[in-house]
Amino acid sequence: MVNAAGKFGPYNQPGSAPTTPVIGVGHARALPLGGQNGSDLVRSRIALRVRLQSVRPGDRLPDAGVLAEELGIGEITVRRALEGMCQDGLLDRRRGRAGGTFVAQGWDTVVALMHDAEEAASLDAFHLLLECGLVAHGSGEVPAERLDPLRALVDDLDRTDDPADMAELETRFHLALAEALGGAGIREFAADLLGRLCLLLPAPLPEAVREQNRCHAELLTELGRGATEPAVQAVKAHQRSRHR
Ligand SMILES: [Zn+2]
Repeated sequence: MVNAAGKFGPYNQPGSAPTTPVIGVGHARALPLGGQNGSDLVRSRIALRVRLQSVRPGDRLPDAGVLAEELGIGEITVRRALEGMCQDGLLDRRRGRAGGTFVAQGWDTVVALMHDAEEAASLDAFHLLLECGLVAHGSGEVPAERLDPLRALVDDLDRTDDPADMAELETRFHLALAEALGGAGIREFAADLLGRLCLLLPAPLPEAVREQNRCHAELLTELGRGATEPAVQAVKAHQRSRHR
């Protein structure tokens, strides 16, 4: 069973000092990625896969050995992380010939129970800074064709009303943005942040994603013409719409 008292080890820090707002950033607790150990990585990457619908509730996960290789960490760490996620109710373990580790049918319900507004705000603030930095850094230097996959995601998002598809495409946009502006390493960094956010916040509501997609479109227009300041403003407007 899940309870609010903290089975979610890495995400709850009951003894930590209260957050002091810092001008400009909003929520600065510990360095957001400081606590990401191997077990956190397994959790956040599985959460990201669920958000991206590459695994769905009821689907069997790859074996621990395969996950370990994919994530570049030890198999024992993966097994321990999967066990923890089973205890939290995020995953189910089934024995027997058709057994294995499955994404729990109640995944979304459990994530809603794990909601941690403070930690989420801290990571979200950090993600905002990352994107503002990437946009300012890349503005005027991004080849037009590198933004094409991003435009395709904006169009795909405009064409769907399915909440899960919308949440997926919203997350895909930000991974693709990180890759287009920062390369593969920055994409992994963004994946760490976004995967952790997938465990701290429920999937965004369709109306919010619709508004965010207008910010995506605006961002691409401004990036395309090398207008740094309006591009950064579009990133900030996107974040504000998420909190509305
Ligand atoms: Zn977005």
